[in-house]
Amino acid sequence: MQTKESLLIKNVTIVPMTKDQEMIEHGYILIKDGLIQEVGSERPAALTADQVIDGTNRVAIPGLINGHTHTPMSLLRGYRDDLPLMDWLQEMWVIEGKMTADDVYWASMLSMIEMIESGTTTFSDMYFGLDEIAQAVDQAGLRALLCEAIMETAGNGEERLQATIAFVEKWKQVGHSRITPLLSPHAPYTCSPNMIEKIVQEAERLDCAIHTHLAETRQEMTIIANEYQESPITLMEKTGLFSRPVIAAHGVYLSDQDIAILQQHQAGLIYNPKSNMKLASGIAPIAHLLEQGVRVGIGTDGSASNNALDMIEEMRFASLLQKVANEDATALSAYQTLALGTSQGARALGIDQITGTIETGKQADITLIDFDQPHLSPKNNIISHIIYSVKSTDITHTIVDGQVLLNNRQLMTIDKEKVIWHINEIKERLLS
Ligand SMILES: [Zn+2]
Repeated sequence: MQTKESLLIKNVTIVPMTKDQEMIEHGYILIKDGLIQEVGSERPAALTADQVIDGTNRVAIPGLINGHTHTPMSLLRGYRDDLPLMDWLQEMWVIEGKMTADDVYWASMLSMIEMIESGTTTFSDMYFGLDEIAQAVDQAGLRALLCEAIMETAGNGEERLQATIAFVEKWKQVGHSRITPLLSPHAPYTCSPNMIEKIVQEAERLDCAIHTHLAETRQEMTIIANEYQESPITLMEKTGLFSRPVIAAHGVYLSDQDIAILQQHQAGLIYNPKSNMKLASGIAPIAHLLEQGVRVGIGTDGSASNNALDMIEEMRFASLLQKVANEDATALSAYQTLALGTSQGARALGIDQITGTIETGKQADITLIDFDQPHLSPKNNIISHIIYSVKSTDITHTIVDGQVLLNNRQLMTIDKEKVIWHINEIKERLLS
Protein backbone atom coordinates (compact mmCIF):
# COMPACT_ATOMS: atom_id res chain seq x y z
CA MET A 1 0.00 0.00 0.00
CA GLN A 2 1.27 3.40 -0.99
CA THR A 3 -0.12 4.92 2.20
CA LYS A 4 2.18 2.77 4.33
CA GLU A 5 5.22 4.23 2.58
CA SER A 6 6.94 7.24 4.02
CA LEU A 7 6.86 10.53 2.14
CA LEU A 8 9.11 13.56 2.51
CA ILE A 9 8.25 16.99 1.12
CA LYS A 10 11.37 19.14 1.26
CA ASN A 11 12.43 22.73 0.51
CA VAL A 12 8.84 23.87 0.74
CA THR A 13 7.12 26.96 2.14
CA ILE A 14 4.52 25.73 4.63
CA VAL A 15 1.33 27.54 5.64
CA PRO A 16 0.32 25.25 8.52
CA MET A 17 -2.90 27.11 9.57
CA THR A 18 -2.17 26.32 13.22
CA LYS A 19 -2.65 28.83 16.04
CA ASP A 20 1.00 29.45 16.75
CA GLN A 21 2.69 29.63 13.34
CA GLU A 22 1.80 31.61 10.21
CA MET A 23 4.53 30.34 7.87
CA ILE A 24 7.58 28.07 7.71
CA GLU A 25 10.18 28.95 5.03
CA HIS A 26 12.50 26.26 3.61
CA GLY A 27 10.42 23.73 5.47
CA TYR A 28 9.96 20.00 5.33
CA ILE A 29 7.10 17.63 6.11
CA LEU A 30 7.77 13.99 6.94
CA ILE A 31 4.82 11.61 6.58
CA LYS A 32 4.61 8.02 7.80
CA ASP A 33 1.65 5.62 7.86
CA GLY A 34 -0.56 8.40 6.50
CA LEU A 35 0.24 10.71 9.40
CA ILE A 36 2.31 13.88 9.60
CA GLN A 37 5.26 12.83 11.70
CA GLU A 38 7.45 15.91 11.57
CA VAL A 39 7.07 19.49 10.36
CA GLY A 40 9.93 21.94 10.54
CA SER A 41 12.45 24.16 8.82
CA GLU A 42 15.93 23.18 7.66
CA ARG A 43 15.59 19.46 6.97
CA PRO A 44 18.10 17.31 8.89
CA ALA A 45 20.61 15.88 6.36
CA ALA A 46 19.96 12.29 7.43
CA LEU A 47 16.23 12.56 6.80
CA THR A 48 14.94 10.47 3.92
CA ALA A 49 11.83 8.57 2.86
CA ASP A 50 10.47 6.06 0.33
CA GLN A 51 9.15 8.94 -1.76
CA VAL A 52 10.53 12.49 -1.87
CA ILE A 53 8.83 15.56 -3.36
CA ASP A 54 10.96 18.62 -3.99
CA GLY A 55 8.91 21.61 -2.87
CA THR A 56 11.17 24.31 -4.33
CA ASN A 57 9.01 27.32 -5.35
CA ARG A 58 5.99 25.53 -3.93
CA VAL A 59 3.70 26.32 -1.03
CA ALA A 60 2.12 23.60 1.11
CA ILE A 61 -1.29 24.29 2.61
CA PRO A 62 -3.64 21.93 4.46
CA GLY A 63 -5.82 20.10 1.90
CA LEU A 64 -8.93 22.13 1.06
CA ILE A 65 -12.24 21.13 2.63
CA ASN A 66 -15.45 21.39 0.61
CA GLY A 67 -18.12 21.53 3.30
CA HIS A 68 -21.21 21.04 1.17
CA THR A 69 -21.70 19.48 -2.23
CA HIS A 70 -23.71 16.98 -4.26
CA THR A 71 -21.00 15.28 -6.31
CA PRO A 72 -23.15 13.40 -8.87
CA MET A 73 -24.78 16.69 -9.90
CA SER A 74 -21.72 17.36 -12.06
CA LEU A 75 -23.70 15.40 -14.63
CA LEU A 76 -26.17 18.32 -14.67
CA ARG A 77 -23.53 21.03 -15.03
CA GLY A 78 -24.95 23.69 -17.37
CA TYR A 79 -28.12 21.68 -17.93
CA ARG A 80 -30.60 24.27 -16.59
CA ASP A 81 -28.95 27.56 -15.77
CA ASP A 82 -30.41 30.95 -14.96
CA LEU A 83 -33.43 29.75 -12.97
CA PRO A 84 -34.42 30.52 -9.35
CA LEU A 85 -33.84 27.74 -6.78
CA MET A 86 -37.33 26.28 -6.43
CA ASP A 87 -37.96 26.14 -10.24
CA TRP A 88 -34.46 24.84 -10.82
CA LEU A 89 -34.91 22.09 -8.19
CA GLN A 90 -38.03 20.81 -9.98
CA GLU A 91 -36.00 20.49 -13.22
CA MET A 92 -33.19 18.69 -11.38
CA TRP A 93 -35.51 16.22 -9.64
CA VAL A 94 -36.95 15.05 -13.00
CA ILE A 95 -33.52 14.02 -14.34
CA GLU A 96 -32.30 12.70 -10.99
CA GLY A 97 -35.30 10.34 -10.96
CA LYS A 98 -33.91 8.71 -14.12
CA MET A 99 -30.31 8.31 -12.93
CA THR A 100 -29.09 4.73 -12.37
CA ALA A 101 -26.62 3.61 -9.69
CA ASP A 102 -23.96 3.42 -12.41
CA ASP A 103 -24.68 7.00 -13.50
CA VAL A 104 -24.22 8.16 -9.89
CA TYR A 105 -20.89 6.36 -9.69
CA TRP A 106 -19.43 7.92 -12.85
CA ALA A 107 -20.80 11.38 -12.08
CA SER A 108 -19.27 11.36 -8.59
CA MET A 109 -15.97 10.13 -10.12
CA LEU A 110 -16.09 13.13 -12.48
CA SER A 111 -16.44 15.41 -9.48
CA MET A 112 -13.58 13.71 -7.68
CA ILE A 113 -11.27 14.38 -10.64
CA GLU A 114 -12.17 18.06 -10.44
CA MET A 115 -11.71 18.19 -6.67
CA ILE A 116 -8.35 16.39 -6.69
CA GLU A 117 -7.08 18.61 -9.51
CA SER A 118 -8.06 21.75 -7.58
CA GLY A 119 -6.53 20.75 -4.25
CA THR A 120 -9.54 19.50 -2.30
CA THR A 121 -8.82 16.59 0.05
CA THR A 122 -12.11 16.32 2.00
CA PHE A 123 -15.70 16.85 0.92
CA SER A 124 -19.06 16.61 2.61
CA ASP A 125 -21.55 15.12 0.16
CA MET A 126 -25.34 14.81 0.16
CA TYR A 127 -27.01 12.70 -2.51
CA PHE A 128 -28.54 9.29 -3.21
CA GLY A 129 -26.77 6.16 -4.47
CA LEU A 130 -24.43 6.25 -1.49
CA ASP A 131 -22.91 2.81 -2.04
CA GLU A 132 -21.71 3.90 -5.47
CA ILE A 133 -20.37 7.21 -4.13
CA ALA A 134 -18.59 5.39 -1.29
CA GLN A 135 -17.04 3.00 -3.82
CA ALA A 136 -15.84 5.99 -5.87
CA VAL A 137 -14.40 7.67 -2.73
CA ASP A 138 -12.59 4.47 -1.79
CA GLN A 139 -11.00 4.24 -5.26
CA ALA A 140 -10.26 7.96 -5.68
CA GLY A 141 -8.54 8.22 -2.29
CA LEU A 142 -10.35 11.33 -1.03
CA ARG A 143 -11.78 11.82 2.46
CA ALA A 144 -15.56 12.16 2.56
CA LEU A 145 -18.57 12.60 4.80
CA LEU A 146 -21.49 10.94 3.01
CA CYS A 147 -25.24 11.11 3.51
CA GLU A 148 -28.41 10.58 1.55
CA ALA A 149 -30.84 13.51 1.51
CA ILE A 150 -34.19 12.25 2.76
CA MET A 151 -37.03 14.11 1.02
CA GLU A 152 -40.34 13.17 2.58
CA THR A 153 -42.18 15.24 -0.03
CA ALA A 154 -40.98 12.70 -2.66
CA GLY A 155 -43.32 10.17 -0.98
CA ASN A 156 -40.64 7.64 0.03
CA GLY A 157 -39.31 9.18 3.27
CA GLU A 158 -39.66 6.09 5.45
CA GLU A 159 -38.14 3.76 2.86
CA ARG A 160 -35.17 6.11 2.27
CA LEU A 161 -34.66 6.57 6.02
CA GLN A 162 -34.36 2.80 6.48
CA ALA A 163 -31.95 2.58 3.52
CA THR A 164 -29.76 5.38 4.84
CA ILE A 165 -29.76 3.85 8.35
CA ALA A 166 -28.50 0.61 6.76
CA PHE A 167 -25.80 2.62 4.98
CA VAL A 168 -24.65 4.27 8.23
CA GLU A 169 -24.62 0.94 10.09
CA LYS A 170 -22.65 -0.72 7.30
CA TRP A 171 -19.97 1.98 7.03
CA LYS A 172 -19.68 2.36 10.81
CA GLN A 173 -18.95 -1.35 10.92
CA VAL A 174 -16.50 -1.22 8.01
CA GLY A 175 -14.64 1.54 9.87
CA HIS A 176 -13.16 2.97 6.65
CA SER A 177 -10.52 5.54 7.63
CA ARG A 178 -11.67 8.06 4.98
CA ILE A 179 -15.46 7.56 4.87
CA THR A 180 -17.77 8.95 7.56
CA PRO A 181 -21.51 8.22 7.18
CA LEU A 182 -24.13 10.77 8.32
CA LEU A 183 -27.90 11.17 8.27
CA SER A 184 -29.64 13.95 6.37
CA PRO A 185 -33.07 15.47 6.23
CA HIS A 186 -32.83 17.38 2.91
CA ALA A 187 -34.43 20.61 4.21
CA PRO A 188 -37.25 21.85 6.47
CA TYR A 189 -39.45 22.37 3.37
CA THR A 190 -39.03 18.75 2.18
CA CYS A 191 -39.27 16.96 5.57
CA SER A 192 -41.92 17.35 8.29
CA PRO A 193 -40.86 18.06 11.89
CA ASN A 194 -42.01 14.50 12.69
CA MET A 195 -39.63 13.01 10.14
CA ILE A 196 -36.80 15.23 11.35
CA GLU A 197 -37.41 14.13 14.95
CA LYS A 198 -37.18 10.54 13.78
CA ILE A 199 -33.91 11.23 11.97
CA VAL A 200 -32.51 12.93 15.09
CA GLN A 201 -33.40 9.87 17.22
CA GLU A 202 -31.68 7.58 14.72
CA ALA A 203 -28.62 9.86 14.61
CA GLU A 204 -28.49 9.65 18.41
CA ARG A 205 -28.74 5.85 18.35
CA LEU A 206 -26.12 5.52 15.57
CA ASP A 207 -23.91 8.24 17.07
CA CYS A 208 -23.60 10.16 13.82
CA ALA A 209 -23.84 13.77 12.71
CA ILE A 210 -26.56 15.37 10.59
CA HIS A 211 -26.13 17.35 7.35
CA THR A 212 -28.99 19.51 6.05
CA HIS A 213 -29.93 22.63 4.06
CA LEU A 214 -31.15 25.54 6.22
CA ALA A 215 -32.37 29.10 5.61
CA GLU A 216 -31.27 29.24 1.97
CA THR A 217 -33.91 31.42 0.26
CA ARG A 218 -36.59 33.98 1.09
CA GLN A 219 -39.13 31.53 -0.32
CA GLU A 220 -38.06 28.91 2.24
CA MET A 221 -38.42 31.49 5.03
CA THR A 222 -41.97 32.26 3.86
CA ILE A 223 -42.96 28.59 3.53
CA ILE A 224 -41.74 27.77 7.05
CA ALA A 225 -43.17 30.96 8.59
CA ASN A 226 -46.61 30.31 7.03
CA GLU A 227 -46.71 26.67 8.02
CA TYR A 228 -45.10 26.73 11.49
CA GLN A 229 -44.75 30.42 12.51
CA GLU A 230 -41.03 29.73 13.01
CA SER A 231 -37.75 30.33 11.22
CA PRO A 232 -36.09 27.21 9.77
CA ILE A 233 -33.50 27.37 12.58
CA THR A 234 -35.99 27.79 15.47
CA LEU A 235 -38.16 25.04 13.97
CA MET A 236 -35.15 22.72 13.77
CA GLU A 237 -34.21 23.52 17.35
CA LYS A 238 -37.68 22.36 18.42
CA THR A 239 -37.20 19.05 16.61
CA GLY A 240 -34.00 18.49 18.64
CA LEU A 241 -31.83 18.66 15.51
CA PHE A 242 -29.10 20.65 17.27
CA SER A 243 -28.71 18.02 19.98
CA ARG A 244 -26.58 16.24 17.35
CA PRO A 245 -23.48 17.64 15.61
CA VAL A 246 -25.00 19.53 12.65
CA ILE A 247 -23.62 20.60 9.28
CA ALA A 248 -26.04 23.23 7.95
CA ALA A 249 -25.62 24.46 4.40
CA HIS A 250 -26.35 28.10 3.48
CA GLY A 251 -27.73 30.13 6.43
CA VAL A 252 -28.44 33.07 4.14
CA TYR A 253 -31.39 34.37 6.20
CA LEU A 254 -30.62 34.42 9.92
CA SER A 255 -32.05 36.44 12.80
CA ASP A 256 -30.01 37.21 15.92
CA GLN A 257 -31.94 34.41 17.65
CA ASP A 258 -31.02 31.97 14.84
CA ILE A 259 -27.35 32.96 15.09
CA ALA A 260 -27.41 32.47 18.88
CA ILE A 261 -28.82 28.95 18.36
CA LEU A 262 -26.11 28.04 15.85
CA GLN A 263 -23.42 29.40 18.16
CA GLN A 264 -24.76 27.79 21.32
CA HIS A 265 -24.98 24.33 19.72
CA GLN A 266 -21.63 24.67 17.90
CA ALA A 267 -23.31 23.84 14.60
CA GLY A 268 -21.19 24.03 11.45
CA LEU A 269 -22.57 26.59 8.99
CA ILE A 270 -21.39 26.07 5.41
CA TYR A 271 -21.13 29.19 3.25
CA ASN A 272 -21.74 28.51 -0.48
CA PRO A 273 -21.16 31.94 -2.03
CA LYS A 274 -21.14 31.03 -5.71
CA SER A 275 -24.27 28.86 -5.61
CA ASN A 276 -26.07 31.52 -3.54
CA MET A 277 -25.08 34.15 -6.10
CA LYS A 278 -26.01 32.08 -9.15
CA LEU A 279 -29.43 31.10 -7.77
CA ALA A 280 -29.86 34.69 -6.50
CA SER A 281 -30.57 33.28 -3.04
CA GLY A 282 -28.84 36.09 -1.18
CA ILE A 283 -25.68 36.66 0.87
CA ALA A 284 -25.00 34.78 4.10
CA PRO A 285 -23.88 37.15 6.91
CA ILE A 286 -20.54 35.38 7.31
CA ALA A 287 -18.48 38.27 8.71
CA HIS A 288 -21.13 38.75 11.40
CA LEU A 289 -21.37 34.99 12.11
CA LEU A 290 -17.62 34.84 12.70
CA GLU A 291 -17.82 37.78 15.11
CA GLN A 292 -20.55 35.89 16.96
CA GLY A 293 -18.37 32.78 17.24
CA VAL A 294 -20.30 30.53 14.85
CA ARG A 295 -18.32 27.69 13.25
CA VAL A 296 -18.13 28.38 9.52
CA GLY A 297 -16.81 26.41 6.56
CA ILE A 298 -17.00 26.90 2.78
CA GLY A 299 -18.75 24.68 0.23
CA THR A 300 -19.30 24.71 -3.50
CA ASP A 301 -22.77 23.15 -3.42
CA GLY A 302 -23.41 20.93 -6.47
CA SER A 303 -21.97 21.58 -9.90
CA ALA A 304 -25.43 22.22 -11.33
CA SER A 305 -25.68 25.43 -9.30
CA ASN A 306 -22.05 26.55 -9.25
CA ASN A 307 -20.93 25.26 -11.96
CA ALA A 308 -17.61 23.98 -10.61
CA LEU A 309 -16.22 22.19 -7.55
CA ASP A 310 -13.18 24.42 -7.29
CA MET A 311 -12.41 25.51 -3.73
CA ILE A 312 -9.68 27.92 -4.89
CA GLU A 313 -12.31 29.83 -6.85
CA GLU A 314 -14.89 29.41 -4.07
CA MET A 315 -12.60 30.93 -1.44
CA ARG A 316 -12.08 33.96 -3.69
CA PHE A 317 -15.82 34.44 -4.12
CA ALA A 318 -16.26 33.89 -0.37
CA SER A 319 -13.96 36.76 0.54
CA LEU A 320 -14.96 39.22 -2.21
CA LEU A 321 -18.69 38.79 -1.62
CA GLN A 322 -18.35 39.57 2.11
CA LYS A 323 -16.40 42.74 1.31
CA VAL A 324 -19.13 43.94 -1.06
CA ALA A 325 -21.98 42.94 1.26
CA ASN A 326 -20.45 44.74 4.23
CA GLU A 327 -19.01 47.62 2.17
CA ASP A 328 -15.86 46.86 4.13
CA ALA A 329 -12.58 45.87 2.46
CA THR A 330 -11.36 44.35 5.73
CA ALA A 331 -14.24 41.83 5.85
CA LEU A 332 -13.15 38.18 5.51
CA SER A 333 -9.39 38.74 5.11
CA ALA A 334 -7.26 36.40 3.03
CA TYR A 335 -6.09 34.55 6.16
CA GLN A 336 -9.63 34.21 7.57
CA THR A 337 -10.83 32.89 4.22
CA LEU A 338 -8.06 30.32 3.95
CA ALA A 339 -8.93 29.22 7.50
CA LEU A 340 -12.56 28.68 6.45
CA GLY A 341 -11.32 26.52 3.57
CA THR A 342 -9.00 24.48 5.83
CA SER A 343 -8.75 24.52 9.65
CA GLN A 344 -12.09 26.20 10.40
CA GLY A 345 -13.81 24.15 7.69
CA ALA A 346 -12.58 21.00 9.45
CA ARG A 347 -13.98 22.35 12.73
CA ALA A 348 -17.36 23.08 11.12
CA LEU A 349 -17.49 19.45 9.93
CA GLY A 350 -16.33 18.11 13.32
CA ILE A 351 -13.16 16.55 11.88
CA ASP A 352 -10.57 19.03 13.17
CA GLN A 353 -8.96 16.34 15.33
CA ILE A 354 -7.77 14.54 12.19
CA THR A 355 -7.35 17.14 9.42
CA GLY A 356 -7.39 20.85 8.52
CA THR A 357 -3.86 21.85 9.60
CA ILE A 358 -0.29 20.79 8.84
CA GLU A 359 1.00 19.62 12.21
CA THR A 360 2.42 16.53 13.83
CA GLY A 361 -0.17 13.85 14.50
CA LYS A 362 -2.72 14.99 11.91
CA GLN A 363 -3.57 12.88 8.86
CA ALA A 364 -1.36 13.96 5.97
CA ASP A 365 -3.95 15.85 3.89
CA ILE A 366 -1.81 18.39 2.02
CA THR A 367 -2.04 20.48 -1.14
CA LEU A 368 0.99 21.90 -2.95
CA ILE A 369 0.79 25.07 -5.06
CA ASP A 370 3.34 26.02 -7.73
CA PHE A 371 4.29 29.63 -6.99
CA ASP A 372 6.72 29.86 -9.93
CA GLN A 373 4.10 31.74 -11.97
CA PRO A 374 3.90 35.27 -13.39
CA HIS A 375 0.49 35.83 -11.77
CA LEU A 376 2.04 34.93 -8.38
CA SER A 377 5.04 37.26 -8.73
CA PRO A 378 6.40 39.02 -6.80
CA LYS A 379 5.76 37.03 -3.63
CA ASN A 380 4.73 40.02 -1.55
CA ASN A 381 2.19 38.05 0.45
CA ILE A 382 1.81 34.29 0.09
CA ILE A 383 -1.57 34.07 1.82
CA SER A 384 -3.00 37.00 -0.13
CA HIS A 385 -1.88 35.28 -3.35
CA ILE A 386 -3.57 32.00 -2.35
CA ILE A 387 -6.96 33.73 -2.01
CA TYR A 388 -6.78 36.48 -4.65
CA SER A 389 -4.36 35.23 -7.34
CA VAL A 390 -3.80 31.46 -7.38
CA LYS A 391 -5.58 29.45 -10.09
CA SER A 392 -6.55 25.86 -9.43
CA THR A 393 -4.24 24.86 -12.32
CA ASP A 394 -1.35 25.96 -10.08
CA ILE A 395 -2.06 22.97 -7.80
CA THR A 396 0.66 20.38 -8.46
CA HIS A 397 0.05 17.82 -5.68
CA THR A 398 -2.96 16.68 -3.72
CA ILE A 399 -2.20 14.29 -0.87
CA VAL A 400 -4.69 12.48 1.38
CA ASP A 401 -3.64 10.22 4.26
CA GLY A 402 -0.11 10.46 2.84
CA GLN A 403 -1.23 9.01 -0.50
CA VAL A 404 -0.37 11.19 -3.50
CA LEU A 405 -3.59 11.49 -5.56
CA LEU A 406 -2.24 14.23 -7.84
CA ASN A 407 1.47 14.07 -8.66
CA ASN A 408 2.80 17.01 -10.70
CA ARG A 409 -0.76 17.43 -12.06
CA GLN A 410 -0.98 13.74 -13.00
CA LEU A 411 -3.97 11.90 -11.55
CA MET A 412 -2.71 8.78 -9.79
CA THR A 413 -5.93 7.01 -8.79
CA ILE A 414 -8.48 7.79 -11.54
CA ASP A 415 -8.46 7.14 -15.30
CA LYS A 416 -9.69 10.55 -16.47
CA GLU A 417 -10.35 9.60 -20.12
CA LYS A 418 -12.42 6.60 -19.09
CA VAL A 419 -14.55 8.71 -16.74
CA ILE A 420 -15.20 11.39 -19.36
CA TRP A 421 -16.10 8.69 -21.92
CA HIS A 422 -18.73 7.29 -19.52
CA ILE A 423 -20.05 10.78 -18.72
CA ASN A 424 -20.57 11.57 -22.40
CA GLU A 425 -22.37 8.25 -22.87
CA ILE A 426 -24.68 9.00 -19.91
CA LYS A 427 -25.34 12.51 -21.19
CA GLU A 428 -26.50 11.12 -24.56
CA ARG A 429 -28.90 8.72 -22.85
CA LEU A 430 -30.21 10.96 -20.08
CA LEU A 431 -30.07 14.57 -21.23
CA SER A 432 -30.29 14.60 -25.02
ZN1 LIG B 1 -26.99 21.87 -1.51
